[in-house]
Amino acid sequence: MVAEILAVGTELLIGQITNTNAQYLSKRLNDVGVSVYYHSVVGDNPVRLKESLKTALSRADIVISTGGMGPTQDDLTKETVAETMGLKLVLHPEIYQDIKAFFERVNRKMMDSNAKQAYIPENSIIVPNNNGTAPGCIIEKDGKIVILLPGPPKEMIPMFEETVFPYFEKMTGQTIGSKMLKVFGVGESEMEMKIIDLIKAQSNPTIAPYVNMGEVVVRVTARCRDANEAESMICPVIDKIRERLGTDLYSINGETMEEVVVRLIIEKNISISVAESCTGGMLAAKLVNVPGVSKVFEKGFITYSNSAKIDMLGVSPDTLETYGAVSRETAIEMVNCLIKKTGTRAGISITGMAGPNNMTDPVPCSTALSHIPDKPAGLVYIAVYLDGKTECIELKLNGYRERVRHVACLNALNLLRKMMI
Ligand code: ATP
Repeated sequence: MVAEILAVGTELLIGQITNTNAQYLSKRLNDVGVSVYYHSVVGDNPVRLKESLKTALSRADIVISTGGMGPTQDDLTKETVAETMGLKLVLHPEIYQDIKAFFERVNRKMMDSNAKQAYIPENSIIVPNNNGTAPGCIIEKDGKIVILLPGPPKEMIPMFEETVFPYFEKMTGQTIGSKMLKVFGVGESEMEMKIIDLIKAQSNPTIAPYVNMGEVVVRVTARCRDANEAESMICPVIDKIRERLGTDLYSINGETMEEVVVRLIIEKNISISVAESCTGGMLAAKLVNVPGVSKVFEKGFITYSNSAKIDMLGVSPDTLETYGAVSRETAIEMVNCLIKKTGTRAGISITGMAGPNNMTDPVPCSTALSHIPDKPAGLVYIAVYLDGKTECIELKLNGYRERVRHVACLNALNLLRKMMI
């Protein structure tokens, strides 16, 4: 089965909007075993739309159009497609009632022009639209399938998922199931080396690693008949990957590092506090993003300056003077002082050089130490305390400030995770 996606709308041609519908549909069609050979885009012009549709029908079994389904004069997709395919538009009273009810629900006046949206090409399957007024339709004629969907993604996507995807699943007898594995602690190439034989040997499920903001993600995808089959195909592959990666594999369900860590600290009932310098509250923000953390999260200090480290935590001025704010000694003292203040079972401190604003910006971040050659931007120390034991790591991170801060937080959480397991 070969499909072509025909996006209708002058806004697309003049660069006012991006054709995200085509990207979305291509991905999902691939998931259901339908190949996409062409994307085409045409403006709101019936003559050119007709030509594009004819071309698409000459080279594809399925044409999916998005856009031009609205009530206004320039929304001509349905009319043009019906004419091209020699189909009459017929009024569906139940759709008319639905449109009327939609306007009542959103407290807006229904225009006469909205009535045209209740006309659908004869003999087609209706694709209901629960988020707008324009229903879509599936036309099956002369061995071809033409599917008309509205342009707004918030309408198009649910319509595709609720009606069109299942229609294709039934037709192709195929679907996909996938799991997102999250790995932390090994780089992409090192990880790939560890599982390269598995990647090469697999065609179904496929194993696809990629890097995302400091972590490696491995997507395992199975082409299958249903969700149960997907599970039974994917689980043995995950087991093999786990054997190779050990505890660096921290989630098989796409969870974030903070979700995994918060789940663990809640399970073990471990209270936690944090003291942050270069991450400026980002670590605390990550923790409090996870529901349920209030059971265990006690306190967070943002001690950006030296005086804040001294006044708020009680770090000794001598330590800061002798070793610098960005040092192993300061990180350890920060976490020890933190635990003295809060009495929590776990504590994390982060101190470092967040780096320049962007890759080319030479301006250092927070402290006056970045001009010192052995304190380069991206140098970060993290100390984690858990039940009487303290561990400290040094990181040399690349990238812009936001990335350095984010990756520092992931490393801090990962160190605590490893100490807990
Ligand atoms: P409406 O009833 O809202 O007029 P429509 O089916 O007529 O829906 P268009 O008028 O063609 O759709 O487009 C409406 C909006 O939908 C666009 O302004 C844009 O925001 C979005 N849209 C349209 N086509 C696409 C596309 N291919 N990719 C992403 N967004 C799109």
